[in-house]
Amino acid sequence: MVVSAQRGVTDQLIAIATEIADSRSAATIEPFIQSLRIRHVSVLSEVAPNYADDMGILIEEQLCDLDNILNAVHNLRELTPRSLDYIITYGERLNSILVSAAFRERGIPSIVMDGCEAGILTTSGHGEAMALPESDMRIRSRVQPLLTDTVPVIMGFMGCTGRGIITTLGRSGSDYSAAIIGAGIEADEIWIWTDVDGIMTSDPRVIPDARVIGSISYLEVMELSFFGAKVMHPRSIEPAMKKNIIVRVKNTFNPSHPGTTIVRGEKHDSRVVKALTYIDKVALITICGAQMIGRPGVAKAIFSALADAEVNVMMISQGSSEANISLIIDESQLAVATDALSVLVKEGLVREVSSNRDACAVAVIGAGMAGAKGTGGRIFTALGNGGVNVMMISQGSSEVNISFVVRQADGPKAVRILHDEYRLSEEDHA
Ligand code: ASP
Ligand code: MG
Repeated sequence: MVVSAQRGVTDQLIAIATEIADSRSAATIEPFIQSLRIRHVSVLSEVAPNYADDMGILIEEQLCDLDNILNAVHNLRELTPRSLDYIITYGERLNSILVSAAFRERGIPSIVMDGCEAGILTTSGHGEAMALPESDMRIRSRVQPLLTDTVPVIMGFMGCTGRGIITTLGRSGSDYSAAIIGAGIEADEIWIWTDVDGIMTSDPRVIPDARVIGSISYLEVMELSFFGAKVMHPRSIEPAMKKNIIVRVKNTFNPSHPGTTIVRGEKHDSRVVKALTYIDKVALITICGAQMIGRPGVAKAIFSALADAEVNVMMISQGSSEANISLIIDESQLAVATDALSVLVKEGLVREVSSNRDACAVAVIGAGMAGAKGTGGRIFTALGNGGVNVMMISQGSSEVNISFVVRQADGPKAVRILHDEYRLSEEDHA
């Protein structure tokens, strides 16, 4: 079992660490530690009254360490990505103790393990570390042997570098941890317990009649999560996919619901389109200039400039005249991106760079689109009939995804139109 933090704890840890690193007073540390104590100890006495003392000591140890670290950060007035990573693992450190105690209370032997001990070896990219392939063997040798007589409860969200420095795997990273561990022990299935019934056809806040998808493929889920759908950590499918392990998404608060099953082969559905997602805070950048026609290396210069500035490009489209390249980035990176590109204008590689913040990217996802003729026609006709103007189109080469850009205000409308067009609120079609 891999556990994440209790709701909101990771956010609180980030907030306090940031605050005390540049505040004159350390006065907020004590009340914060006390609030964590009350919260976790009260759950402990509920789920494992007979282990409240033994396991309570472990909680106190964690709180004492956290207290020391927060005070150190305050005294130094310095919060590095490395120390922040260490601090934000405390939600998982505390919660894993509770879950392990609950097992023991029910007569099931259980131990607590941190993600590093369990064998998750990562890159040193603090805040967004990635598991290295060596993790696999390490997990097999460290976790597998324990399974015969105990349930290891492993702290999610964290791993460590080869030097033993604690890293975190990005927000919602416990899903990713679970997938890495599941792949490492060659599990039959990986179950992600969350707080919704499963992966949905669209965001229910935008589409009230959005429906839980019964079965979906690895590729479709990857496209969905890379495209902003908060279904699970975007990297959590890859380890499962490599070993062909079924992933199930289930609701902790509604366990009898079948949830969503994620498998290799997509289940054929006559509707072709399976899910819709959109990201509203994006900016559209258009780079044009006749200088670009037929000239090799312009695209390279553009993308290197953006990569050097650490701008993540979400979508790309190039007109066949080559006089024009459009791309989509996160709105918060717009200033950095236009600065980086202005250099190319100075160098005469491109004539003009323009941008538009009033943009929102919509992704239409479905493995069936690959072979179906006329999908693009149907999508854009429906949007046109609904009065939505499309500013840019891009089709992923995986053909599992067609995405396009519309004005921000048109995003929800576009999703609504396509959800109706493909009758996604109806049950799975055979
Ligand atoms: N606790 C971490 C977070 O809030 C990881 C997780 O919840 O999966 O991002
Ligand atoms: Mg979470």
